Amino acid sequence: MTGGLTDLTLAGARAGLAAGDFTSEELTLAHLGALEETRPLNAFIAETPERALEMARASDARRAQGQAGMLEGLPIAVKDLFCTQGVQTTAGSRILGGFAPPYESTVTANMWTEGAVMLGKTNMDEFAMGSSNMTSHYGRVENPWRAAGSNRALAPGGSSGGSAAAVAARAAPAATGTDTGGSIRQPAAFCGIVGMKPTYGRCSRWGIVAFASSLDQAGPITRTVWDSAIVLRAMAGHDPKDSTSVPAAVPDYEAALTGDIRGLRIGIPAEYRMEGTPEAIVALWERGKDWLKAAGAEIVDIGLPHTKYALPAYYIVAPAEASSNLARYDGVRFGLRETGDGADLTEMYEATRGAGFGAEVRRRILIGAYVLSAGYYDAYYIKAQRVRSLIAQDFADAFGRVDAILTPTTPTAAFPLGEKMDDPIAMYLNDVFTVPASMAGLPAISVPAGLDDDGLPLGLHLIANAFEEETLFRVAGVLEAAAGFTARPETAAKA
Ligand code: GLN
Repeated sequence: MTGGLTDLTLAGARAGLAAGDFTSEELTLAHLGALEETRPLNAFIAETPERALEMARASDARRAQGQAGMLEGLPIAVKDLFCTQGVQTTAGSRILGGFAPPYESTVTANMWTEGAVMLGKTNMDEFAMGSSNMTSHYGRVENPWRAAGSNRALAPGGSSGGSAAAVAARAAPAATGTDTGGSIRQPAAFCGIVGMKPTYGRCSRWGIVAFASSLDQAGPITRTVWDSAIVLRAMAGHDPKDSTSVPAAVPDYEAALTGDIRGLRIGIPAEYRMEGTPEAIVALWERGKDWLKAAGAEIVDIGLPHTKYALPAYYIVAPAEASSNLARYDGVRFGLRETGDGADLTEMYEATRGAGFGAEVRRRILIGAYVLSAGYYDAYYIKAQRVRSLIAQDFADAFGRVDAILTPTTPTAAFPLGEKMDDPIAMYLNDVFTVPASMAGLPAISVPAGLDDDGLPLGLHLIANAFEEETLFRVAGVLEAAAGFTARPETAAKA
């Protein structure tokens, strides 16, 4: 059997493999075909078909021996921010071109240990800075969706836009993403799929190219909530190599998907009602409330008073950390080296960094260096850190009263590729609903919940208290079932 293999969910593929309906090699071949078919989307920076087939055959051999890990034989795409041993890892940047890490990130290693098969490395905004995938050195990624009656290419969101486009287009049943301020959830919403950011510390950051270390978290991008639960379990876990990863056991997230949310309290934050939000998004949010209420949850109005400061504070903290993290790209240790006129070492640093970093990355480094400089540190960086504490306190207060918070994921649906590039503030506003949870380190998920008037997907966003991923998945599962989102994008592999 090969028909329909790329349309299977991860859970469906897992069941098919277990029943012997098909092999991992067949499943992998079907997805490698889909990768080729959807190549015009430019969702991948590197396809790794040989490695994929080798891993798939090894998986089939293990299964024949009666061994099967949690992701046994399941093909997965990997955001090009995760170091993969011997496979080029670029972070979407020219400066890392040709860099093949001598080590494997903990998250990807965990997935391979559980039997997963790597399809390739997905495209992304340079160093995960962006909301449109336009900042990738390896070219823009197209959203597989089109607005009704239009053939205009749309942004897949960012920074995990390649992962989201690949999963939506059925080139991969699941992918890894990373989320610093919204980079898993926003592209998932734009592409009509599920994107989940775990609690800060749930997944190891070791071997993930660092953007803003106090915010970066890895998480799954899938087509269903169930699949998200499957993948997160394999990705997560304590790692002695990352001192910020929590030494806590990883629960069985699938078991949390009971479908029963009776008695749970769902908070609706007044501050997320933003002026200018399109009617379709406001209406969907209302529908989301009704769905959860109908399932037996109690809807509670809450306040998160410091919400409006989250985005400005994020754009101080994230660039500050980025300017420090990106200091390591100097032409000596990784990837690109430009010697300039070859006069001295400083000349080489400058030539390498000047040629290797794109405009958005340079902007962040400049802002970061500025807010950390001696004269401005107290005025900007320290103040932003204080605001961050207040945001976390808002959530702590709210979670004294509610079990989860429901908001829209994004203030708009997918916009045309290339738009907002000359207006960084408009681009930054994409994350207005996702950044607060990032600043507080909380788990959050975007679930595809409806279409706007142009037939483009919209997501609903749930936030839970720290390490309450089980509650998050449980509520998300109910939301998903109620929404019954079955629409398919324009570009999807034929299966
Ligand atoms: N769009 C946000 C930024 O550009 C978030 C990116 C991310 O989460 N990696 O910083």
